[in-house]
Amino acid sequence: MAETTESESRKLLVRLREAMAGDDAGQARLDKITHLIADSMGTEVCSVYLFRDEETLELCATQGLNLESVHQTRMRIGEGLVGRVAKYGKVVNTPDAPNAKGFRYMPETGEERFSSFLGVPVQRLGEMLGVLVVQSKEAREFSADAVYALEVVAMVIAEMTELGAFVGEGAALSPLHQQAVLIHGGSAQEGAAEGHVWLHEPRVIVTNPIADDPARELERLNGAVEELRVGVDKMLEVSRNGDKEQLQVLEAYRMFANSKGWMRRMEEDIARGLSAEAAVEKEQSQARTRMSQVQDAYLRERLSDLDDLSNRLLRILTGQGANTGAELPENPILIARNIGPGDLLEYGRSLRGIVLEEGSVGSHAAIVARALAIPLVVHAKRITTEALNGDHIMVDGDQGVVHLRPDETVVGAFRDKIAMHAQAQERYASIRNTPAVTTDGQRINMVMNAGLMADLPSLDGSGAEGVGLFRTELQFLVRNQMPKRSELVALYQRVLDAAHGKPVVFRTLDIGSDKVLPYMAPTDEPNPALGWRAIRVGLDKPGVMRMQLQALLRAADGRPLSVMFPFVAQFEEYRAAKAELDKTIERERILGHALPSELKVGAMLETPSLAYAPQKFFDEVSFISIGGNDLKQFFFAADRENERVRRRYDTLNVSFLSFIERIVERCAISGTPLSFCGEDAGRPVEAVCLAAMGIRTLSMRPASIGPVKSLLLRVDLGELRKIISDARHRGDQAVRPAVMQYLRGL
Ligand code: PEP
Ligand code: MG
Repeated sequence: MAETTESESRKLLVRLREAMAGDDAGQARLDKITHLIADSMGTEVCSVYLFRDEETLELCATQGLNLESVHQTRMRIGEGLVGRVAKYGKVVNTPDAPNAKGFRYMPETGEERFSSFLGVPVQRLGEMLGVLVVQSKEAREFSADAVYALEVVAMVIAEMTELGAFVGEGAALSPLHQQAVLIHGGSAQEGAAEGHVWLHEPRVIVTNPIADDPARELERLNGAVEELRVGVDKMLEVSRNGDKEQLQVLEAYRMFANSKGWMRRMEEDIARGLSAEAAVEKEQSQARTRMSQVQDAYLRERLSDLDDLSNRLLRILTGQGANTGAELPENPILIARNIGPGDLLEYGRSLRGIVLEEGSVGSHAAIVARALAIPLVVHAKRITTEALNGDHIMVDGDQGVVHLRPDETVVGAFRDKIAMHAQAQERYASIRNTPAVTTDGQRINMVMNAGLMADLPSLDGSGAEGVGLFRTELQFLVRNQMPKRSELVALYQRVLDAAHGKPVVFRTLDIGSDKVLPYMAPTDEPNPALGWRAIRVGLDKPGVMRMQLQALLRAADGRPLSVMFPFVAQFEEYRAAKAELDKTIERERILGHALPSELKVGAMLETPSLAYAPQKFFDEVSFISIGGNDLKQFFFAADRENERVRRRYDTLNVSFLSFIERIVERCAISGTPLSFCGEDAGRPVEAVCLAAMGIRTLSMRPASIGPVKSLLLRVDLGELRKIISDARHRGDQAVRPAVMQYLRGL
């Protein structure tokens, strides 16, 4: 076998480029490439396997194996040596393939004649595209040099695949980024949207993976790395006095930007004929593959830092990638791996939909998307690699489904769905100012949940009669620093102004569990949902709560004020929090500030324990609000963030409804106003059942007010209650079937 020295590698790449430059169709190019590689590496066989679909690899071209098996031989990912390379993204190098672990005999290829096997992944930015293999009769292990050379070639093939070089008549491949793709993810915010892809971080396209002049490429790489280092140093300088965690990230960046190993590998790639950008991408691809495999959270973080740095470097080298200056397309649908709440807020309401490759239902981005009522699909696998800026896309937030580049039938069906949504919206708008009174004359108070300034216009638009839950922590979560008291005062003032006298219930800071403030020292708890959160933090470290209470009092400036404390598990916690508030009021009085004309202080009932608090508790609080999301998770011991269990128990389970009824009774004894502010209040069927159990105030996302009110206007709560009661007596597990039957008959 010829020595695969750097100059040999370079020669091969130059020949590859010549082969690619011809007018050949895709298949002919691929055939030529396998021939060239086998020739240059001195092996009898060279084959390219590419993915047909997510699971299946197909032999697309070969030099040395039976030609009849091209496009016939297929294997599943993980199957055989080729499948193993694809599955693990790792090189397989063995002198005795037939006896190697995982070998699968494929008689149609005639490969049993070949003893040694070297397979490397063809991957681009962590996306596995296929496998490149060389085989020879002679039993020997390929040298590290040969492995390296083949990896470099695989990199070029990956770039060419991305550029569509193997597409055409008799094509080895169907074109990338052109076919319709259906992706099933998870629903994090309902709604349907049609529009065009806007990549939060656009893909960088490398059009010149092969370079003639290594010295020049090295110079380009060094120049770009220098620019990168200067940039990181500048960021460090700016953040010197700021947030500690951000500083740590930047220090890690700097470490990588100065990392000798990283630089050395890229220099070697260049010496073997890759362009500077292809070298960066090759290392980035390998880091991404590692990232998907390591378990250790710290290591993953570091690999993700490296990924980020590589992105920056690619942008410097190609001048592409940053969206700066580019205009959002019409009806933009944002696509990202993940996005922080701050970035999302910057896009604001300009977005029609959001699709995240990772993300989670309970993430802060999801909270923001919900507040903005933008359909959001999370866990959309491969969306960032499949989608290109401007692609036509349809997002079904109800089902958690994304149609990328949809075909005509899908477009038709989807537009019908959007039209139905729009019609429904019109119907809801027509009842915006109608009070929610059921057919048996029960009046339900419809209020909304809020937390962002972006929510405020909904106070007028949705027909909400007030704000039943203002989640104050959102303002803390979307910042990099603890907000100042004066900022909070201004903010709460704006909320009260926007409400024009409608009641607003401010909930004090509810942090901990999944809501982690970026600027507070993280607490390492075995089970954060049951840990140091909400009122527990507020009472143990009262500084922030005091500041917040003071801000609320000043914002009210003599107007009525309602405050509630989250996650109260026992009477004493409420009393202690109320005592803090009383002290703050006293201080404000001494300082000469105006006090609220009316003050209501409530507690959120989010743990079953509080439902059994002494009656005196119910006497003392001004009101109670059931935080159904948390209450349900603790009632059924089923994590609200865990996709596996979160839908396992029905809100309309008879046990849960009986429990709600119990709370209603206890409040009734003391005459304590009761509301329900979990997500279930915004689901029409659940909402009417809650009303039937005696809840008279429902607080929900603004977008839910129309659908819930529309159903309330049509039901008879007395009848519904009887149906629920009958179902309980029959021993049904959940009342849903009986309720649905009643609702269908309306
Ligand atoms: C709840 O738990 O139902 C609630 C309204 O609070 P959050 O969702 O913010 O925990
Ligand atoms: Mg809660």
